[in-house]
Amino acid sequence: VEPMTFPERAAVIDAAAISHNVRTIGDFVRPAKVMAAVKADGYGHGLITAAEAALAGGAGWLGTAHISESLQLREAGIEAPLLAWLHTPESEFAAAIEAHIDLGSSGWELPLIAQAAGELHQPARVHLKLDTGLGRNGCTLADWPTVVGNAAEYQDQGLISIEGIFTHLAVADEPDRKETDEQLAAFRQALETAEAAGVVPDLRHAANTPAALSRPDAHFDMVRVGVGIYGQSPFADRTAESLGLQPAMELRSRVANVKKVPAGQGISYGLTHRVDAPTTLGLIPLGYADGVPRIAVGGPVLIRGQRYHSVGRVAMDQFVVDLGAETEVEVGDEVTLFGGDSGIEAAEWGTAAQTINYEIITRIGARVPREVI
Ligand code: PLP
Repeated sequence: VEPMTFPERAAVIDAAAISHNVRTIGDFVRPAKVMAAVKADGYGHGLITAAEAALAGGAGWLGTAHISESLQLREAGIEAPLLAWLHTPESEFAAAIEAHIDLGSSGWELPLIAQAAGELHQPARVHLKLDTGLGRNGCTLADWPTVVGNAAEYQDQGLISIEGIFTHLAVADEPDRKETDEQLAAFRQALETAEAAGVVPDLRHAANTPAALSRPDAHFDMVRVGVGIYGQSPFADRTAESLGLQPAMELRSRVANVKKVPAGQGISYGLTHRVDAPTTLGLIPLGYADGVPRIAVGGPVLIRGQRYHSVGRVAMDQFVVDLGAETEVEVGDEVTLFGGDSGIEAAEWGTAAQTINYEIITRIGARVPREVI
């Protein structure tokens, strides 16, 4: 996007960066395949944009939480293998089967999936999901033999085909923690149990981005990577740049007001900040309605190659940065909050807002246009 045409606000999406990141991770995990997690509107980058860029970078699979998200991919003409893993009894299992979308199952879905498959005369493709310690989705280790047995029966009846077995890791972003070893050991044990019951699917998968990058023993046949493909580090103590990943989203705007204020000037609702010396305030027209968290005090921005920080509470539409007593910054100047060539990672806004880069990038509001480059 050229400066002349750059609008007031934009999340500039670098599709080539997504492809690059998928390629980088793919090279690292080979021979394991890459499933790109494109749920949550491609982590805020745009579902279809992210999907196409990931496939261009060599992703063999795309993953979504909801069937509805996978159906949108199919409606956009994407023919790659898809997996959707988070359901309720209201989920559109029949539509998923018809659209050749693989379905994750914790066990309870199997009768519903089998029934839909029977009515369609088309076997459903299923990945059994095991909870090895995250305590979230997936069947318990105690229920695993029963779930495997049920799945094998449905498979024998021609109603499902078991394509995969998977689990999700809880603390892979902290590589030294022993719970990942315990989860992987439980997963291996469960694979043996399944094998003993004659269930040996092609795709065993466990690794998210942090495990893909730090635990080769978690790669199995495929990794399911989200945050890394968007050029974000999953580790608190490592930048994306140090991992060879390129930011795929640049959050930009323009300065909406510049003014000199005296010492003691209060800033924004609650007057939680007062400047202690005469200074210049810059106004940035992005607020919590745009996904800049209200509590993000000290969030960095880059204007004319220099870093400034937010002061006071972020409001719905705008926040204030302290530009210092002497500044060249003018109304209309371009501002980058993170990404692009700014050297600011979304994780810095995460830290300012007591959250993580995942939450920052996925919550950029609908009012911010996505400009795909
Ligand atoms: N697999 C599952 C089941 C997930 O829920 C997610 C996202 O949270 C991922 C993989 C991708 O995780 P990450 O973004 O850490 O790579």
